[in-house]
Amino acid sequence: MNDPSQSLRDLSCADDYDPNSMPVGKAREVIARFLTPVSAAGRAHVRAALGRVLAEDVVSPLDVPAHDNSAMDGYAARFADLKGDGEVTLKVAGTAFAGAPFQGSLKAGECVRIMTGGVVPGGADTIVMQEHVKTDRDRVTIGGSHKKGQHLRRAGEDLAAGQVALKRGIALRPADIGLISSLGIGEVTVYRKLRVAFFSTGDELVSIGSQPKEGQIFDSNRYTIHGMLTRLDCEVLDLGVVRDDPVLLEKAFKDAAAAADVVITSGGVSVGEADFVKDLLGKLGEVVFWKIAMKPGRPLAYGRIGAAHFFGLPGNPVSVMVTFYQFVRDALLKLSGRDPVPSLPTFKVPCASTLKKAPGRTEFQRGVLERDPHGTWNVRVTGEQGSGILRSMSEANCFIILPTEQGNVTPGTLVDVQVLEGIV
Ligand code: AMP
Ligand code: MG
Repeated sequence: MNDPSQSLRDLSCADDYDPNSMPVGKAREVIARFLTPVSAAGRAHVRAALGRVLAEDVVSPLDVPAHDNSAMDGYAARFADLKGDGEVTLKVAGTAFAGAPFQGSLKAGECVRIMTGGVVPGGADTIVMQEHVKTDRDRVTIGGSHKKGQHLRRAGEDLAAGQVALKRGIALRPADIGLISSLGIGEVTVYRKLRVAFFSTGDELVSIGSQPKEGQIFDSNRYTIHGMLTRLDCEVLDLGVVRDDPVLLEKAFKDAAAAADVVITSGGVSVGEADFVKDLLGKLGEVVFWKIAMKPGRPLAYGRIGAAHFFGLPGNPVSVMVTFYQFVRDALLKLSGRDPVPSLPTFKVPCASTLKKAPGRTEFQRGVLERDPHGTWNVRVTGEQGSGILRSMSEANCFIILPTEQGNVTPGTLVDVQVLEGIV
């Protein structure tokens, strides 16, 4: 078990530890030190296990394939009967179709009509493709040049009995569900879901269904966060909107931390008068850092309240999503038992837009990765990049990541993109 207090003490002694302006990479590293994955697990029916994290290896109880079988439609023969380069005529002794094997064993001078997937009969060791034979009633004439064992799939070739078919720590995808079923296994052991409680903070917020008064806005962060957590297969606990009132906030913090493994809030982490989140975190638990050298998403508090991890995300809707995908996602996957935690796919493509960027912080601009008429992939920016413009995120299919030292970007420059499709 990690000792969070010890980790925090070690951390504050490090030379480059500045909780007031943490570089992106350092912040990820710091969070990772505090994460101890869930260990409780239970059994789940294979259908219900989609998206769940395997808590134990799945070991194959059988050979896959179970029998030597044919990879082609043709004839199963004894290699010893085939002439090196001349023709030979064999008697067709029967058939071996998928699910209906040939009963008995091949004798010298015999072959068996076999279809793809058919069990190779005893005595046969070679498959001759049907395109390479001439048939005449119950006789076939086969030309030369065959290899012993050709077009034959061996029992246990894909998986031998006792071999690990799927490793602990993966989240099950449809292919995995199929693979488990192909082994005749009906239940698997999966980790319990991570419980994540979240709420929005702000006097100006109303939930959908209420009528905003003058100066009030609809809460969107709670709905975005709900969506992002659901995609990560977490158990979600929506605690609503909490006013900028230290008494109400303290209660919400305590309730959330008592009920969940992770608490996520949005808003109230900057330095405005009504921004109580950081102070409360310090009062009720430990603040590990509260600012990151990034744009958008500079105020991001990370700490602990009792056994719960706490992420205080910024209030601006785009900053919420950027900080979630850059920090919270990996932490939640690690805590959920994913091992290894899969990275978001990142690669370089030419940028089709001019990008404004000042050195000093890592920027995550919202981009559209698309193919030009010549078939080459490039990325353009999704218009205005203000951190309150959620449409810039909604239109995006990737983040354009501009490193700390990077200045303005001119069209044609290679930039890093991180693909969101299929992930968000
Ligand atoms: P704050 O960090 O609380 O000062 O919030 C920064 C900006 O984000 C303000 O303009 C807020 O109105 C806005 N904001 C905060 N929380 C939300 C929310 N849940 N939904 C939409 N906008 C929000
Ligand atoms: Mg606020």
